Amino acid sequence: KMPLCQAGHCQANEFWHKGESHFFKQLYFRNAKKEFVPVALLVSPIFVSGHEPESAVFIFRDISKEMEAEHSKSEFISVASHQLRTPLNSIRWILELLAKGDLGKLTKKEAEFIDEAHTSVVGMNKLIDDLLKVSIIESGRFPYNPECVNIKETFNEVIASQNYLAKAHNVNVVNEIPEALCTVITDKAGTRQIAECLIDNAIKYTIKGDVTVSARPSQNDTLFMVKDSGAGIPPENQDKVFEKFFRAENAATMHTGGSGLGLYIVKNIIEICGGKIWFDSVLGKGTTFYFSLPNKK
Ligand code: ADP
Repeated sequence: KMPLCQAGHCQANEFWHKGESHFFKQLYFRNAKKEFVPVALLVSPIFVSGHEPESAVFIFRDISKEMEAEHSKSEFISVASHQLRTPLNSIRWILELLAKGDLGKLTKKEAEFIDEAHTSVVGMNKLIDDLLKVSIIESGRFPYNPECVNIKETFNEVIASQNYLAKAHNVNVVNEIPEALCTVITDKAGTRQIAECLIDNAIKYTIKGDVTVSARPSQNDTLFMVKDSGAGIPPENQDKVFEKFFRAENAATMHTGGSGLGLYIVKNIIEICGGKIWFDSVLGKGTTFYFSLPNKK
C-alpha cells in the first residue's frame, strides 16, 4: 500500500505537469476509521491556453465493491476448480486403465472412443489448471521464489515432454540456448510454465516446419526467443493475444485445442519475475515470441 504522495513528491502531479493523463488502477485511501479503502484515480491536465497545463482534474472512485466482487469470483473459480479436479482425475485414471487393456481386450472402435474421451479429459484438466493459475495470479498469491534456473535444461525437459505433439505436427524443435546460461534468476515453476506454453503454441500452430529456441544474454538481462515457421497471427488480432480467453481467428480453424489463457498467464508470470514479453508475427510465415528475464547479480 504505497502512498501516492511522499514528502514533497507526488506521482499524480508528475503526470499532469507533463501534460499527460494517467489512470491509477488501485490506490488506497484511509477513511475516518483509519481503514484502507481501495480507490481508482484518473488525473487529467487542463489546458486553458498554450501548451502548458494550468491545472488538473482528479477523479477518485471507491472500488471496494468491485474488489469484493473480483475476490468472490476468484474464490469461486478456485473452489469449483478444486472440486472438479478430483472426479476428473478418477475418470482419467479409469480411461487409462481401459486403454491399456488392463480391464479386458478392446475392439478397435472401443479403443478409438476411449482415446477420444481421454483427450477430452486431458483438455479439461488443462483448462482447470489454467483457471486455477489465473485465480492465483489475479488474487496476487502467485508464489515467486527467485533462484538460479538452468534455462537450457528446463527447455530440454519441456521439449522432450512435447515430443509426441511435435511428431504429430511434423515439427522439428531445436534448442540453441547456450549451455553456460544457467545464471538467470527467475522462478523455477514459473519458468517451466513459460516454456510449456511457448513451446506448445509454437508446435500447435505449425504444420510441418521448425521451432527454434535461442537466447542472447546482455548485461542486466537475457533475451529469449521462441521462433516458429507456422501459421502466424492475423495482424488485426495481434493486439489482443495476451488478453484472457482470446484466440485468433486462424487458431479456431486449425482444430487445435486451447483456452486462450496460456499467454495471459505467461505474461503475468514474466512480469512478476521482472521481465517483459512481446512478439513478431507474419501471417502464413511464422511467429517469434521474445521474453527477457533478469540475470543473476
Ligand atoms: P491457446 O490456448 O488458444 O493457445 P494462448 O493464450 O496460448 O491460448 O494463445 C492465444 C492465441 O494466440 C492463440 O489462440 C493463437 O491464436 C495465438 N498464438 C499464440 N502463439 C502462437 C503461435 N506461435 N503461432 C500462431 N498463433 C499463436
